[in-house]
Amino acid sequence: MRIGVLSLQGAVEPHLKKLKALNADACEVRNVPELQACDALILPGGESTAMIHLAKQNGLWNVLLNYVKAKPTWGICAGAILLAKEVSHPRQDSLNALDVAIERNAFGRQADSFIDKVDWGNGQKVEAFFIRAPRIQRVGAGVTVLGSWRGEPVIVEEGLARISTFHPELTEELTLHRDFLEKCQRPPSP
Ligand code: GLN
Repeated sequence: MRIGVLSLQGAVEPHLKKLKALNADACEVRNVPELQACDALILPGGESTAMIHLAKQNGLWNVLLNYVKAKPTWGICAGAILLAKEVSHPRQDSLNALDVAIERNAFGRQADSFIDKVDWGNGQKVEAFFIRAPRIQRVGAGVTVLGSWRGEPVIVEEGLARISTFHPELTEELTLHRDFLEKCQRPPSP
């Protein structure tokens, strides 16, 4: 099981570090052959507009459109914006991997970034960095909320696709990376 991290731009290294700490086979993905060698993909935080531009430039975008339907993905912040069905503020292209509407930069500017705890099932809390984070404005009927912050969904999934509006890779905890690896190892539901 090889887990790729989309490495066009953004916070790539901390994901590789956590995946390796969990003994996963982790690698960078910059082009189509590298993507096709991976069983699952993390789309990291960074700048979604830049990632879309770079992915289109090197032929990855069209391949990603099919990849997200077939393999587990986890989009973080900018990566969440890439995977959502609808994007606002402003509107932009996306991979439509799960039925969620998301608003970019919904907390304000860089100075409004913050660190807080997110509720993650069974009363557990995990630390989260919200960095020019988007906000999930609508979740479709098939979407499961896995974690919330002050009652609003911040980590959700539908089928193979999972998104979080915050960065879990900048903390010391391995909880969410471990959970994603477990998801990748589960056989797909029929
Ligand atoms: N504001 C960025 C965007 O719209 C996302 C920020 C992040 O990934 N931390 O793409």
